[in-house]
Amino acid sequence: MTINSSQILEELSELEKSSKLLDPNQTTRANWLQQVDDYVTSFLSDLPNNKAYNKDHSSIDAIEEFDIEEKGASLNQLLTLYEKSIDGVGINPASGGHMGYIPGGGAYPSALGDYLAAVSNRYAGIFYAAPGAVKLENMLIKWMCRLMGFPENATGNLTSGGSISNLIAIVTARDAAKVKAKDFDKLVIYISEQAHHSIQKAIRIAGLSEAVIRYVPLDSQLRMSVEELARMISEDESNGLIPFIINASLGTTNTGAIDPINEIADCAEKHGLWFHVDAAYGGFFKLLPEMEEAFKGINRASSITLDPHKTLFLPFGTGAVLVKDVKSVYQSHHYLADYMQDTANAQEEISPADVSPELTKHFRGLRLWFPLKLFGLEPFRAALKEKLLLCRYFYNEVHQIPNIEVGPTPELSVAIFRYLPEDLDANKFNQKLINEIQSDGKVFLSSTTINGIFWIRVAVVLFRTHLNHIEYLLEDLKKRLA
Ligand SMILES: *Cc1c(COP(=O)(O)O)cnc(C)c1O
Repeated sequence: MTINSSQILEELSELEKSSKLLDPNQTTRANWLQQVDDYVTSFLSDLPNNKAYNKDHSSIDAIEEFDIEEKGASLNQLLTLYEKSIDGVGINPASGGHMGYIPGGGAYPSALGDYLAAVSNRYAGIFYAAPGAVKLENMLIKWMCRLMGFPENATGNLTSGGSISNLIAIVTARDAAKVKAKDFDKLVIYISEQAHHSIQKAIRIAGLSEAVIRYVPLDSQLRMSVEELARMISEDESNGLIPFIINASLGTTNTGAIDPINEIADCAEKHGLWFHVDAAYGGFFKLLPEMEEAFKGINRASSITLDPHKTLFLPFGTGAVLVKDVKSVYQSHHYLADYMQDTANAQEEISPADVSPELTKHFRGLRLWFPLKLFGLEPFRAALKEKLLLCRYFYNEVHQIPNIEVGPTPELSVAIFRYLPEDLDANKFNQKLINEIQSDGKVFLSSTTINGIFWIRVAVVLFRTHLNHIEYLLEDLKKRLA
């Protein structure tokens, strides 16, 4: 069937009427924005009274009633559902009472950055398309490189989180080792028993399932033992295997233990291995001068994972990876397709697409830059120091409760403890205790098992967690254990 131009014009005029609904006028926009702002205002002012955790999630069934349909709904209806079925259930990551896992942040100016990024929709994957957006993201990467003592010509990427950062680092290390796939079963990867599981996941996704993973034993403080590491590497070398990467944790997720970075760097250098430091949790504590000793040698890493959505208090979806050798990360991730030929000559700046699996991507830079610039670094340093001290205060005080045993002295802002009942099974007792705390939900804690022992974890990472939350927690524990 042929279609003539006048028919086309007629149909277009109809379609245009409907498709223009996708571009709401100023009155509608102002109205929507006001409704969202009203929601945010009451959400934030209710935070201190609301729970950090709501186990009852029966209200999520209502989401099914909002399936996608031909006609639009009102924003008011959506916000009502959002409040009840989304914000009202599970862990509330905005609550200062959230001290489980590694809490995230949600600094407000990031929302404004996201708003702008979504409206103007700059194409931040490629320098040619959005030179300013890419320059800004690279400036943020440079700032992180300087913070970690990496040289000016190092590079990196703003990722969606620590897991993708670890993946980029592992893939880069794999390619830099220049080993053929048929020899992957000779590659050896060294991680500690306390490494984050995203490392094992990255190893598998990177096609390295056949590589040997050595779980380096820990010292009494749950840090990687460098003697054991050195012994394992030498043994593997003499057995004809190919040691190629060491992953150290700067702040384990479980207990905040910091592996001896500088000594591990010696070991990596001596044997010519890629040295990755997973500092997803601990990295930004580098902003505190008193942490200098713990970070000694981090500048000697080949790559570093950071997670601004943890210790820079930003919203989820904000990670970073730094790589010292630009060429290696570029070789693993750069690709130039025919339809991208116009972009080839604009090489003033490394494009995010050259150093990550992504092409089109969220312009994450704004959600970092807004809070960092609007607040300046000072309050970030203060909040980080506050978290360290709150954790130490909790650790000291919880130790005073009769029959409480504590784990290693916290190096960062995670403490573990358990109650030792007179004549009951300790693991079962503490399991019950954490269940009770979670059911109550005023504060949220999580648990872990280390060498068969069940521990309760307190992770002080949220910018909204202050002394009143810790005092509340201590009082609550005393009441439960009285
Ligand atoms: C949280 C964490 C990760 C994973 O980061 P995501 O942002 O959750 O993907 C990796 N390593 C460590 C040490 C972490 O604490």
